[in-house]
Amino acid sequence: MPTYEFQCEKCRKRFELVYTITEYERKARKLKCPKCGSTRVGRKISSFEVKTSKKS
Ligand SMILES: [Zn+2]
Repeated sequence: MPTYEFQCEKCRKRFELVYTITEYERKARKLKCPKCGSTRVGRKISSFEVKTSKKS
């Protein structure tokens, strides 16, 4: 299963979650930071996907 890495945009807390694709799609919309509870959580690109795009 892929590991998804996230970072809270509010407190900068980083955390990882392991989801199946289906689970991820269902839960990604209402993710919350485990530390401050903010829903402003950004997805970090995991190594899982870093093969094609190199845009910055
Ligand atoms: Zn936070």
